Amino acid sequence: MQTIVYIEKNPITNKSRFVSLELAYKAYTLMQPSKGEVVGVFVGDSLPEDTDDLFKNGLDRLIYYTDDNLKNLQSIAYKNIIEQIIKSEEPDIVLFGATHNGRDIAPLIASSLRTGLTADCTQLYIDDLIYRKENKGQSLFQVRPAFGGNILATIVTPDNRPMMASVREGVMTLPEKKLNKPVKLEKANVDFNKEWIKNDFLSIIPKIKHVNFDTSDIIVAGGAGVGSKETFNLLHQIAKSLGGEVGSSRAAVDFGFSEKVRQIGQTGSIVRPKLYIACGISGQIQHRAGMEESKKIIAINNDKDAPIFGIAHKGIIGDLNEILPVMLHYLREEE
Ligand SMILES: Cc1cc2nc3c(=O)[nH]c(=O)nc-3n(C[C@H](O)[C@H](O)[C@H](O)COP(=O)(O)OP(=O)(O)OC[C@H]3O[C@@H](n4cnc5c(N)ncnc54)[C@H](O)[C@@H]3O)c2cc1C
Repeated sequence: MQTIVYIEKNPITNKSRFVSLELAYKAYTLMQPSKGEVVGVFVGDSLPEDTDDLFKNGLDRLIYYTDDNLKNLQSIAYKNIIEQIIKSEEPDIVLFGATHNGRDIAPLIASSLRTGLTADCTQLYIDDLIYRKENKGQSLFQVRPAFGGNILATIVTPDNRPMMASVREGVMTLPEKKLNKPVKLEKANVDFNKEWIKNDFLSIIPKIKHVNFDTSDIIVAGGAGVGSKETFNLLHQIAKSLGGEVGSSRAAVDFGFSEKVRQIGQTGSIVRPKLYIACGISGQIQHRAGMEESKKIIAINNDKDAPIFGIAHKGIIGDLNEILPVMLHYLREEE
């Protein structure tokens, strides 16, 4: 078997996106039983500066096409280049990060190749598919939340190849010990037509910079129970004292206490810090989907029956308006 992973570069750090490293390792674990190959495909102006890290996370080969005109996402050009590589490699599986680029190109490629694509998968595994009494052989089982996150659907693509899926950053893990694989780079042998370049790409400059959830060991998250933007500011001060980041529930974003980029959950970021402090968050399934893999969870809530206590390692039952100022007071004494 063979799996292709679409590799992306973070334009700010010039390194591979975290999700590309996570997918390289996921593809490696999927391919291990059949001793299959993991091939990365990169399109852009120049390779990420940490290509060796992609191999340490599972790639066997990296096929790349670079051109100055491809600095920013150019949907048609990227799609045409990647499609040519897929046609020549004939992989069984193609994985994309559910990033802005991935969400743009993956459906174009799937539709052009007349195959299926499952977006925002939370689990991927390979198993035998018995379908209408026929044995269809090994298939990729693609698990993702459906109906507002109330059920998990398992989707297979029985008759068409490749089987395509996208996964959001933070869902898959990295290897505990880096792999020892040699770097193998191959320039793609594809046609590239400058007419595919359109100058109509949009550059969106977010109001606040990127939130460092990938590198934060501690996240202090607030929900609707925080009650106001002013009280939310205490969470920022607590996070700063602890050297962590601030996250929020969707309700806190909807109430205007926090910014959308800080939202954690099914339609926000997926995080797994060493410590997650959930303040005034009830713990609905859509929020839990983004944080329940955290190593330690501390919940603060005035309702002893709040579902968040079902997954918390430690719980404090009480009013945030009394607890947060005391926490901050003690943290400042420690500084
Ligand atoms: C398709 C879909 C996608 C969604 N995606 C997401 C997502 O990505 N992320 C997300 O978070 N949600 C998401 N939601 C929304 C989700 O269902 C919940 O509505 C949301 O998580 C609730 O946020 P909350 O816990 O902050 O608010 P609430 O459910 O209102 O809970 C507030 C909590 O604060 C406690 N509280 C109140 N006052 C105090 C106080 N003074 N001191 C201590 N505790 C107090 C209450 O007891 C309560 O438990 C999604 C929903 C849908 C349908």
